[in-house]
Amino acid sequence: MNIQTEIDSLSEKPSGNAKPFAEVVFNLPLREPFTYKIPPQLLGKVRVGMRVLVPFGRRRITGYVVNLTDKWDKPIRLKAIVELPDTEPIVSAELLSLTRWLGEYYQSSWGEAISAALPAGLDKAGYQLVKSVRLASSLPDEKEIERLLKRSPKQKSVFDLIRQKEINLPELQTRIPKSQAALRSLKEKQLVEVYTEKKVREAFVPENAMTQPFGASLTFTPEQQAIFKKLSLAIETEKFESFLLHGVTGSGKTEIYIRCIQRVLEKGKTAIMMVPEISLTPQTVERFRQRFGDRVAILHSGLSQTERYLEWKKIRDEKVSIAVGARSAVFAPFKNLGIVVIDEEHDSSYKQDSNPRYHARDTAVMRAQSLNAVVLMGSATPSLESAQNTRRGKYQYLSLENRIGERMLPIVSMVDMRRERKEFKNFAMLSGILRSAIRDRLSRKEQVFLFLNRRGTARFVFCTDCGYVLECAHCSVTLTFHGKEDRLLCHYCNFRARMPGRCVECHGEVIRFSGFGTQKLEEEVKKNFPDARITRLDRDTTRGRDSFAAMHRNMIAGKIDILIGTQMITKGHDFPNVTLVGVVHADLSLNIPDFRSCERAFQLLTQVAGRAGRGEVPGKVIIQTNNPDHYMFEFVREHDVNAFHEKELKLRGQLNYPPFTRLIAVEIVSTNESLGKRTAEKLGRALAQQTIRQKGVEILGPSKAALYQIQNKFRWHLILRGQNMQTLQGILADSQELNELKSSSSGKLKLSIDVDPFNLL
Ligand code: ADP
Ligand code: ZN
Repeated sequence: MNIQTEIDSLSEKPSGNAKPFAEVVFNLPLREPFTYKIPPQLLGKVRVGMRVLVPFGRRRITGYVVNLTDKWDKPIRLKAIVELPDTEPIVSAELLSLTRWLGEYYQSSWGEAISAALPAGLDKAGYQLVKSVRLASSLPDEKEIERLLKRSPKQKSVFDLIRQKEINLPELQTRIPKSQAALRSLKEKQLVEVYTEKKVREAFVPENAMTQPFGASLTFTPEQQAIFKKLSLAIETEKFESFLLHGVTGSGKTEIYIRCIQRVLEKGKTAIMMVPEISLTPQTVERFRQRFGDRVAILHSGLSQTERYLEWKKIRDEKVSIAVGARSAVFAPFKNLGIVVIDEEHDSSYKQDSNPRYHARDTAVMRAQSLNAVVLMGSATPSLESAQNTRRGKYQYLSLENRIGERMLPIVSMVDMRRERKEFKNFAMLSGILRSAIRDRLSRKEQVFLFLNRRGTARFVFCTDCGYVLECAHCSVTLTFHGKEDRLLCHYCNFRARMPGRCVECHGEVIRFSGFGTQKLEEEVKKNFPDARITRLDRDTTRGRDSFAAMHRNMIAGKIDILIGTQMITKGHDFPNVTLVGVVHADLSLNIPDFRSCERAFQLLTQVAGRAGRGEVPGKVIIQTNNPDHYMFEFVREHDVNAFHEKELKLRGQLNYPPFTRLIAVEIVSTNESLGKRTAEKLGRALAQQTIRQKGVEILGPSKAALYQIQNKFRWHLILRGQNMQTLQGILADSQELNELKSSSSGKLKLSIDVDPFNLL
């Protein structure tokens, strides 16, 4: 699609011969826009990109105008637009065309995509109801007024004020304190009336926001300087270019982002800075505030709907020139965008896991392309997709080899938990080596961080002797144990196997992994180190941002000796006194039944390791595993991301997984188990029939999802795999079976489509 012509055709200005019909889309799964008549009083006022309130069935709902037309030749009487809440379009032509692409690509409707691009609660949050007072519509003559007010000087002064101008209640209270009683009397005497006014909310932005000087910047290292030179050249050229900046944690990437953004601002342009939600910490925010003052709008999840709306409005009204935020910041309504920065580009939080299931990084690249802006993606552990894109020359590769201040990378060592059990008869969560390392750090008043991944609750089967984990022979993903059937299932291809009596590799005893969590770990640590100050941080203990911020303060102040946590604590923190990181059960990440589990485990371990030894003392990382010979650990130990990419890309190629193929996952969810099964099988047969002669397209499944039963709903997956995304999209578009299911979607049976799925669980 050519975005520029799209934009041209969308940017319609109101003209003399105003068009009488508007095409409207909604935040609903509808394929086509609906046409409405524009009533005479709104003719010429309705514009593309505005919201409208329209009759829809028996309700009235808000929609978005995507086109104006003077053609309507169907024999159906059109309904008319009821209300026009906006005086200006709230979606620009550029964002209209981006959301149109997004809806088509990710298989949601255009209206759903527009809605995702706007702040939640826009319809409510945009206004504030204010009570004001004005003079009564018919006043008695002056003599009578004088008589009515004679005995009350207070009433008179209130009345005189209102006579000068209409005034709202809060203002009245400040001008004339304690005026409630007087106002009530004036109302009773029918001299004034109180009415409710709908006012547009405004955010407070200091007058000088855009002229404040930039905060002082650091002198670049030669390595940073060389990279910045390339990036500023691209910024000067004002053409679309995309870069992948690879550098370990602490190598100075953020400093480069900041300087690039400053360069863009100096050119009078604007910038989006995307970070994973979890790393939008006070430290990050503080760094941007310090450099850019009030030019920054911060979009974090702690904001109320109103606050979120006000930040969005500041961006739209060009009162700020940088938006810092998570996934949805990609839609920041800037005109004149110069750069989009995506930190930790590999992070899975960039993919939205509900409709529309867009990937913010890929959306950012699309958006930048249409605007001739620069895209800068950064990571210590780039995704294989981006690594492959640099190999293909789609992204330019930039690399920072050293940590700032020549801090050393931590020393990584492995503990074989099989030996621990067999030879030392230790069945606890902590190995002897890790325990003594902890004791050692505690005696030196250094801090310890214990990491336990809890994601991927699917149960797997492994051998206690050799650590072997049962995998699907066809798909190379971990088999999931389903207790009800007493079977192991592959949730990609539906391969089924009996629970083996003995390990197929070494004939050792096999057991089901039944999961243990951070809570149990905390108990064990407390028992071993009764005097240590221990804090546990995971989804159960973090209610809101407060406990997160408290953990931060306490870590920095040295009030915590051992911090226990899940991946929540792996990102965006700099605790210089943490000198030991223990990974308690590294296999958990590795055995998640997803073809990306190895990549994820590598990224996670490398990120966790990056938490150790950022200060003067070199760090140590101890990884406990049942499977120390797994190739992935070697690359973690060597800190060799590129070699890992090399190896993992080769495997992906052999197994036909992304980035060498593309996937679309179709999910069928039903409250009725057999209905779900029948539907999935029927759809699977139809799709197989349809693609029988299509080369390079495969249909995997249907199969039970790894997390098959969630909240009494049963989930099935079908996976389309092929070389070419357009072909796959075409198959879905042509599938009658699928389209019927889509339109008959209900609470009982729901179908959803995930293009470029990120989590196949
Ligand atoms: P990353 O984003 O790669 O983790 P940062 O940009 O946060 O790295 O840099 C790590 C630390 O080094 C920060 O405390 C930062 O202030 C500091 N730093 C970065 N660049 C320089 C520099 N050129 N000179 C001195 N300190 C720097
Ligand atoms: Zn399989």
